[in-house]
Amino acid sequence: MGKLFVISGSSGVGKGTVINEFLRKHPEFRLSISCTTRGKREGEEHGVNYFFLSKEEFKNCIDNNEFLEWAEFSGNYYGTKKEFVERCLANGENLILEIDTKGALNVKKLMPEANLIFIAPPSIEELEARLRGRHTETEEAIQKRLASIKLEIENSKYYDYVVVNDTVENAVRKIEEITG
Ligand code: 5GP
Repeated sequence: MGKLFVISGSSGVGKGTVINEFLRKHPEFRLSISCTTRGKREGEEHGVNYFFLSKEEFKNCIDNNEFLEWAEFSGNYYGTKKEFVERCLANGENLILEIDTKGALNVKKLMPEANLIFIAPPSIEELEARLRGRHTETEEAIQKRLASIKLEIENSKYYDYVVVNDTVENAVRKIEEITG
């Protein structure tokens, strides 16, 4: 059986960069592909980044009990298929789920053997300054984002590990210690 790791962290903390660097160094780990109803971003592909579903298709999967967990995030639905996770673990693949904290806590309830890792910003003040420094978002959007970041940090107390992303190298090293 492969091992299951769940990684969460607010957008803006560089979670994606840390996970990509970890995966580059550790091809024995695989990133789970989730389903989502959000639109495809430039460069994204169906079956690579996500399985892009219509709301109707997503709802059918919920009704058929196909999801290990699913959550609504920023007006879109995201979910992890049970079958995908079970198949990978049964094949002996070590799997990483990159999902939000609500989904992660649901996975932990169903699969207590899952290891939950939260990637935290060095400080909330620094993150706020960084978001404001971009000058790309309205004050309202920034406030909304900060509120969701604070909620995620609050949920992180239920995680098995918290990794502070001070530098990518340090964060990757800490994840190597956890998964090694
Ligand atoms: P994005 O739209 O930027 O790709 O992802 C938005 C958020 O959805 C991120 O916090 C990401 O971790 C989360 N997410 C992605 N896939 C899943 C999933 O299958 N389940 C849950 N609960 N969250 C997910």
